[in-house]
Amino acid sequence: LPAPDVVALTGADVAGLLPRPSAVSDKYRRGVVGVVAGSDRFTGAAVLSVGGAVRAGAGLVRFASAAEPVAQVRARWPEAVTKVITPGEGVRDVGRVQAWVLGPGMGTGDEAHALARSVLGGDVPVLVDADGLTVVSRDRELLRREAPTLITPHAGELGRLLDVAPAEIEARRLHYARRAARELGVTVLLKGSTTLVAEEGRPVRVNVTGTPWLATGGTGDVLAGIAGAFLAGGLSCYDAASCAAYVHGLAGRLAAGGPEEGEAPIAALDVALQIPAAVRA
Ligand code: AMP
Ligand code: MG
Repeated sequence: LPAPDVVALTGADVAGLLPRPSAVSDKYRRGVVGVVAGSDRFTGAAVLSVGGAVRAGAGLVRFASAAEPVAQVRARWPEAVTKVITPGEGVRDVGRVQAWVLGPGMGTGDEAHALARSVLGGDVPVLVDADGLTVVSRDRELLRREAPTLITPHAGELGRLLDVAPAEIEARRLHYARRAARELGVTVLLKGSTTLVAEEGRPVRVNVTGTPWLATGGTGDVLAGIAGAFLAGGLSCYDAASCAAYVHGLAGRLAAGGPEEGEAPIAALDVALQIPAAVRA
């Protein structure tokens, strides 16, 4: 039989893939994730993406950004190691990381472009989200790199990357997720009411653990942090994206409740706080 080209992601798949510490683990071996997010105008995205990474079990989270987001992250996540950086110096003195999360709330101007070049110029896996996607859609050369790259767009962000209207993306999500993976040479996690994970040569994975209550500001930033922690923990872009989509959706569902217990609105931070319960489940 030919391999199926679309598969549903199951809890058993995810349980088998999730990074787990062992007796010989230390924080470095569990994975150091670097986060470059936020700007003096947008600090919440930084707090939420760091929160996703911390709660998803990164060995260590290094956070590098402007002074204001660094202050906010330090106040909310004492676990993170932070550094104020300038666009000129980039991330060269941040310390060794196994994977980067680039983009939430970082802005889209020249300074953000310089930071993106610094992170994407390195030789470890990079997840690009949000403003980072706007930056690379104006300079696609940034995606031509040796190390693996995972992009996590919603339909609007993917539309900008491919020069296609968002409504057209929504009408043919499978097609455009695959096309972006092939044309850009990256792994694609396409967000929406269901989440698709596409990579050239692999079946598209579909995740349905989410809830419409996730449609609120900041939940995507939490997802980026979760996937970054899994990447740093040694999963491939394809597996990190799949596991992150599953865990994030389940965390949202645990936060919002279901038909039996009744449902209620959630905030993005609630999703981050439910990640351990989702992993346990
Ligand atoms: P962002 O677009 O970056 O804010 O991320 C929003 C997050 O919420 C993504 O993980 C989406 O998959 C999820 N989401 C948005 N709308 C829905 C929906 N109607 N049903 C389920 N999940 C959703
Ligand atoms: Mg987003």
